[in-house]
Amino acid sequence: MDKITIIVPCYNEAEVLGDFYTAVTAATAGIANAAFYYLFIDDGSRDDTLAAIRTLAEDHQNVRYISFTRNFGKEAAMMAGLDYADGDAVILMDADLQHPPALIPEMIAHWRAGYEDVCGKRTDRADETWFKRTMANLFYRSMQAASRTPLQRDVGDFRLLDHRCVAAMRLLRENQRFTKGLFTWVGFKKKEIPFHVQPRAAGRTTWSYPALLSLAVEGITSFTTAPLRLTTVLGLAVSALALCYMLVVLVDALVYGDPVAGYPTLMTVLLFLGGVQLLSLGIIGEYLGRVFTESKQRPCYLVDERDGEKFDYAALHREVRN
Ligand code: UDP
Ligand code: MG
Repeated sequence: MDKITIIVPCYNEAEVLGDFYTAVTAATAGIANAAFYYLFIDDGSRDDTLAAIRTLAEDHQNVRYISFTRNFGKEAAMMAGLDYADGDAVILMDADLQHPPALIPEMIAHWRAGYEDVCGKRTDRADETWFKRTMANLFYRSMQAASRTPLQRDVGDFRLLDHRCVAAMRLLRENQRFTKGLFTWVGFKKKEIPFHVQPRAAGRTTWSYPALLSLAVEGITSFTTAPLRLTTVLGLAVSALALCYMLVVLVDALVYGDPVAGYPTLMTVLLFLGGVQLLSLGIIGEYLGRVFTESKQRPCYLVDERDGEKFDYAALHREVRN
């Protein structure tokens, strides 16, 4: 009998949790030789999500949960899920039913066939705006070019992980998590299966354009140092150009005795150099910021309650001190 834990990060999902449980239970009922457990992570929801999870846990033996002390973000919620889940495999799934439960039997079939990381690959981004699609394209392209471990394209957080893969993921404790990159980084035998992203069952998405942009920057800075290399190349190129131009100016002045002039060129060069310098500083700053955040070594999340029991921070503190 395979034990499979379904990890569900939840932020303000009170409306859909009941439907989610029913839909997933129905979709998994026909799978032979497998017992399904649920691990809900309440990521500091402001609505009645925690109450809804507690009700589920009371009504069903196979429901466990963790709640956070505040909203730590989906990446942290997924990490907590991987930390606390047990069993032979886990499935990461959104609560809003955008990830079709009907795909689970196929995932499990692939896992039983020997794949250790089976993930859903979205086949249509048609419902998204042209702008969003173009930006996503650009992002994947540049990541592909910049890194040795290519990022899986259009692959979200809907995936099944073998318990070995989960154990490996637990080793990666960085604070600023770009989970998609981490899955790629750990390796293991991967299988992508296509699926259509469903419209949200209820509630609304928490992703805005600024949030997506910062995720992209996060992805790049946590995945590759190529931008730093780029600044070096940029610096070299600009220096080379500057040297050539210096010769031109010198020859002009010495041979032709050009009188002082050229305010426009002066201004152009000055502004260009200023721009390049600020850009390079900005890129360095992004990385420095990451080093700063990681160096504090704070935990990625704080658990408030686990299956009805308040988390004992005093005990943890005593343990760490001794
Ligand atoms: N989520 C979370 N913490 C957050 C934001 C979202 O745990 O701070 C959960 C949310 O409840 C859902 C999943 O992450 O189960 C995906 O979120 P959402 O549907 O808002 O993102 P989208 O599907 O638009 O990418
Ligand atoms: Mg969603």
